[in-house]
Amino acid sequence: MHTFEFIRPADSAMAVAIGAQTKTAQQGADVRFLAGGTTLLDLMKLNVETPARLVDINRLPLDKVERMPDGGLKIGATARNSDLAHHPIVRRDYAVLSQAILAGASAQLRNMATTAGNLLQRTRCMYFRDTAMACNKREPGTGCPAITGSNRTLAVLGTSQNCIATNPSDMNVAMAALEATVHVQGAKGPRAVPLGEFHLLPGSTPERETVLEPGDLITHVTLPPPIAGSKQVYLKLRDRASYEFALASAAVVITVAGGKVTWARVALGGVGTKPWRSPEAEAALIGQIANATSFRAAAEAAMRDAKPQSENAFKIELAKRCLTHSLQMAATS
Ligand SMILES: Cc1cc2nc3c(=O)[nH]c(=O)nc-3n(C[C@H](O)[C@H](O)[C@H](O)COP(=O)(O)OP(=O)(O)OC[C@H]3O[C@@H](n4cnc5c(N)ncnc54)[C@H](O)[C@@H]3O)c2cc1C
Ligand code: SF4
Repeated sequence: MHTFEFIRPADSAMAVAIGAQTKTAQQGADVRFLAGGTTLLDLMKLNVETPARLVDINRLPLDKVERMPDGGLKIGATARNSDLAHHPIVRRDYAVLSQAILAGASAQLRNMATTAGNLLQRTRCMYFRDTAMACNKREPGTGCPAITGSNRTLAVLGTSQNCIATNPSDMNVAMAALEATVHVQGAKGPRAVPLGEFHLLPGSTPERETVLEPGDLITHVTLPPPIAGSKQVYLKLRDRASYEFALASAAVVITVAGGKVTWARVALGGVGTKPWRSPEAEAALIGQIANATSFRAAAEAAMRDAKPQSENAFKIELAKRCLTHSLQMAATS
């Protein structure tokens, strides 16, 4: 691993000021915030990330999980994934988030991983993680070998001719279904970004994954007040039962009254280049009888624009079954 300067800032303002000295907050940043380190240190060992300065944010007071006056939830950027998943309010009111986090990684990793670090975890595309290979995301303009190469685990929604990498996070899928908002302190002050606008599609600039600018420090994430009477399920399908990323996953939050779906929020994981909220599935569900036919119709709607690559066409049917089954689980829970 290359050498770097290690900095412990006295407060958030100092962290932002140091972070603002880098040219980009995206791939190739020469200043990085260090949270749990479970993504960043791996990538530094592989020389995919080579920051000259690491700004350790673990001692900043950003780890609280607390109810807000409006009934929503404020989740600190450095709240550990395990603390968040087991928090009594999350288990009771935002069960889909608890389930999604616990479906990811391992207990040891979740004890280190943080809310903001999870939001910003990088793709597991093998070419991205191997500096001997070309990769538009790592080195813009070098090409995307995954399109003609190994793409079984990569995305079928939101891809471009420049990148088909999957967003690997489980937590982000639940955050999308819960309509989370990401709060950032930047060089120009604080701002709030709805989760759906936080991650970017690859388009012609796959190296740019989020709206973050140099110095932007995620301080917390907020969730709106829980939906009364909602049923929530996160279902993850993968090659082995633990310690594995999703091939397809679904986060659903629905309410059912008089046998009909009255509220629906749906997001998919493992299939999109960003956490994939599906307004198409939601529109197909609301007002319909809560049964297998309408659930399958919603799944068809969610995957209508899917574009398979040479090895991952199976994901389209897998994602449809995953969503259909998760809706059935929610409706009968
Ligand atoms: C073996 C293994 C298996 C895994 N399996 C899964 C899985 O099944 N599902 C899943 O979802 N995840 C999985 N993960 C990924 C894991 O969830 C992430 O590595 C973790 O969530 C990242 O959090 P962190 O705090 O360690 O981030 P870090 O590594 O500390 O940081 C990640 C990035 O976020 C930036 N950052 C961190 N905090 C902030 C902030 N407050 N503001 C701005 N930038 C910030 C850092 O600069 C860095 O670029 C796995 C990881 C490993 C190593
Ligand atoms: S899919 Fe994206 S991350 Fe993977 S090789 Fe292509 S450009 Fe790189």
